[in-house]
Amino acid sequence: MSGFREAVIDLAAIRGNMAHLRELVGTPHAMAVVKANAYGHGAVPVARAALAGGADWLGVADIDEALALRDAGIDAPILAWLHDIDADFSAAVDDDVTLGISSALQLQQVADAAAELGRTASVHLKLETGLSRNGVHENDWANVFALAAALEQGGLLRVDGVMSHLSNASAYDDQLALECFERGVAAARTIGLTPALVHLASSAAALRLPAARFSMVRFGITLYGLSPFEDATSADLGLVPAMSLRGRVAHVRRVGAGAGVSYDYLWRAPHESTLVLVPLGYADGIPRQASGTALVHIHGKNYPVVGRVAMDQFVVNLGSTGDADACGVAVGDEIVLFGDPATGAPSATDWADAADTINYEIVTRIGHRVTRRHLNG
Ligand SMILES: *Cc1c(COP(=O)(O)O)cnc(C)c1O
Repeated sequence: MSGFREAVIDLAAIRGNMAHLRELVGTPHAMAVVKANAYGHGAVPVARAALAGGADWLGVADIDEALALRDAGIDAPILAWLHDIDADFSAAVDDDVTLGISSALQLQQVADAAAELGRTASVHLKLETGLSRNGVHENDWANVFALAAALEQGGLLRVDGVMSHLSNASAYDDQLALECFERGVAAARTIGLTPALVHLASSAAALRLPAARFSMVRFGITLYGLSPFEDATSADLGLVPAMSLRGRVAHVRRVGAGAGVSYDYLWRAPHESTLVLVPLGYADGIPRQASGTALVHIHGKNYPVVGRVAMDQFVVNLGSTGDADACGVAVGDEIVLFGDPATGAPSATDWADAADTINYEIVTRIGHRVTRRHLNG
């Protein structure tokens, strides 16, 4: 039985996806990307499941996310790659968090923290190869690599990795980025750096661009059992969606023809209809954009969302046939908003399509009010 608002996460699916992905790519190392609370799935339990499934690295954006994993007792290698100017590099170095470095300033900040602690920091140099986000630009490689080599010789840090990230804009753009990355790795080696971990690919490139695999790939969306591709489903990729978003029917109502539903009466019942109130809204990550388009699963069937998605709730139309009793749906019954489509429920990708966005956003934006329940830990 599900809770009022609940995201059920199957950790067996996380383990299985990781094992399957690792086998598929065959790289010496595989990172599980668990940033943003593991794309909404719960960072600590997902990190443990991913490690059990064969990941040997964890990846996060912020140092705070890495420290939270350490606080939970996770001692696997962790890489954090997006830093505030005042980021606590000292806490990161002290907790053995490897730092993705995008500038000479960050390199110096990390070296200062290491000097103060009397430790050697581990860093991965992040190269800008086309996304125009963070990463060291080609024009600055010589300077930054030389500084890194000097700090390495001084025992303050080790350059254990070189990394970048692809745009997926097109095969051509990714090829240019790949070539740029290879120039960067070669330049780092020429200067005397010896990065053991060379990594460029996230899920999409890991699966479809073998030349981008190098010594490690970083799995995010696929770890969660979702497809990064428009032309392939989870099942096509051999993946099982780990999250199922559920709620319990809060109200059942029979309305007459012409009854307005939710704000602005975006939808009016064309004839007598049975409506079900679902207690999740945009505060819980349900896209308002999906008003009137998405489907939910109740008692083995899919029914349409009608009217506007509100902050806390939305309405589903069970249709015109019979009364509420005949539909057999009662207050307290389980509603599956999305889950594994193999069960007949809509997928997170179906919701993404309904809201004109991507499955990443659907799962990651599930709000704090939604209880996470982890199965098969
Ligand atoms: C989020 C992120 C990933 C994971 O990407 P997916 O497409 O979810 O696999 C990998 N690398 C970096 C640098 C990221 O920011």
